[in-house]
Amino acid sequence: MTNHDVLKQNVCQVIDQARDRIVGLGEAIMDAPELGFKEHATAARVKETLEDLGLTYDDGLAITGVKAVLRGGKPGPTVALMGELDALQVPGHPRANATTGAAHACGHNAQIAGLLGAAIGLSQANVAEQLAGNVVFFAVPAEEYVEIDYRLGLVKSGVTSFLTGKQELVQLGLFDDIDMAIMIHSTSPEVASGSMGLSPSSNGFLAKNITFQGKASHAGGSPQRGVNALYAAQLALSAINAQRETFSDEECVRVHPIITKGGDLVNIIPAEVKMETYVRAKTADAILDASHKVDRALRGAAMAMGCQVEIATVPGNLPLRNDPTLSELFKQHAGSLFGPDEYRDYGHSGGSTDAGDLSQFMPVLHPMMTGASGTHHQTDWYISDHDAGYVAPAKTLAMMAVDLLSSEATLAQEVMTRFRPEMSKDEYLQRQQAVFKTERFDGGLSPENTAGH
Ligand SMILES: [Zn+2]
Repeated sequence: MTNHDVLKQNVCQVIDQARDRIVGLGEAIMDAPELGFKEHATAARVKETLEDLGLTYDDGLAITGVKAVLRGGKPGPTVALMGELDALQVPGHPRANATTGAAHACGHNAQIAGLLGAAIGLSQANVAEQLAGNVVFFAVPAEEYVEIDYRLGLVKSGVTSFLTGKQELVQLGLFDDIDMAIMIHSTSPEVASGSMGLSPSSNGFLAKNITFQGKASHAGGSPQRGVNALYAAQLALSAINAQRETFSDEECVRVHPIITKGGDLVNIIPAEVKMETYVRAKTADAILDASHKVDRALRGAAMAMGCQVEIATVPGNLPLRNDPTLSELFKQHAGSLFGPDEYRDYGHSGGSTDAGDLSQFMPVLHPMMTGASGTHHQTDWYISDHDAGYVAPAKTLAMMAVDLLSSEATLAQEVMTRFRPEMSKDEYLQRQQAVFKTERFDGGLSPENTAGH
């Protein structure tokens, strides 16, 4: 047995001894769900555990984030293990918060249990001396892209610069001392076959809020005096649909607009109609290209009807690129727990995560591991197998950290040498900042025409 095999064995032994504590943390967080940028009680639970382990930390990062460091015996790269603090809004979930509707219907409670389990293993098995580099335990806020208006309020009032946690932490420079970031997301047999696996890549997206402004008039008595904003929205949907043949199959573009307000009263020509859409794609450039075509379609519709359109665009997540070297490491360690035949390559995913943002400029690992029952974001989701859902991620995270940083951190150095960024951190920030834009286009609705009914 090599030296680092012994280290991993010791770490896993400590995690096994702490099994009930790790499960207890996961279940306690499941029963106290909080929405993004409001995860104060969850963060308090993280801090309490870190304090107990004798780890110092910084807190209040991007409002609720907590970051602790375990320093290795020698200098070297810094590996961040991450867990997401936030829940979703699923009011019908049996374990939802009765007031906010928040529920852990995506298994982020298991991420925090896994992260703290890894912290218990790595800090209590006295392996730090043997590591060349540092392990950061990073509890990060607000991964789910929800409560958009609330978060835009945070941006407008200068509390945050972005709508999700990792984006904000990057902006604050809190990933500057980190060389690679690793996390494990839960999945279930209903969602994916096999006990663990990963998508090499996933889509990114941006979001748009759209308002068509026409002119109201009596729909029976004087429709000729109105400007119908609903018909403008209808034309916009047709024009957006007509763009679809220009999207290449490889870019996996998804545009899925909805009308959220279709008018005020049935006997009034609709003067104000609202739409929302996401624009998703496999690359950052393809997202911008599709976004440009959607804007053109919206302007064209306003022009056709002679009304106004306001297009408010906000950045979502950038596409995920799972690091191939870290992916191999995950396959090996998760395979040692579940059996190598349980690994699956899920192919490109249409979903999105803000771990994708990090993966544009640093090596990132974001695989899936079983343990849950039900479907992500639905009322039937919970961690049904505590050992697979809470304890296995703790062991896998801890073992990967040991492998990366033991033996003079040869493996971590290899990950860094092989990594090719898609863009620099500064380019990333500029690109995402540039997405924030509110455009008002007048297709011929003069001010005097908007007054009076
Ligand atoms: Zn999730």
